[in-house]
Amino acid sequence: MNKIITNKAQCTKCGDIIESRHRHDFVWCKCGALAVDGGRDYLKRSGDIDGYIELSVTEPAIVSESKQGSELKDDRRAANTGRKKRNQARKSTT
Ligand SMILES: [Zn+2]
Repeated sequence: MNKIITNKAQCTKCGDIIESRHRHDFVWCKCGALAVDGGRDYLKRSGDIDGYIELSVTEPAIVSESKQGSELKDDRRAANTGRKKRNQARKSTT
């Protein structure tokens, strides 16, 4: 599980940025279309969620920012040479 550092979101209707600072901190935006809850324990979004901008920060998201330089992985695809075994049908005539 990702560790939550900041639990917040922005309502696209009123532009209000709301943040839930602790587990039972249930915060509504100005227009009442969006609410955040859960603090650092869980990310909960409530209300008329048509659109909101997620502004939460979780731990792995910060780590990825410091990485620079692309690591190219050499993908070697093993060519499958399909060998078909042909069984020679023996015709036994008695
Ligand atoms: Zn709003």
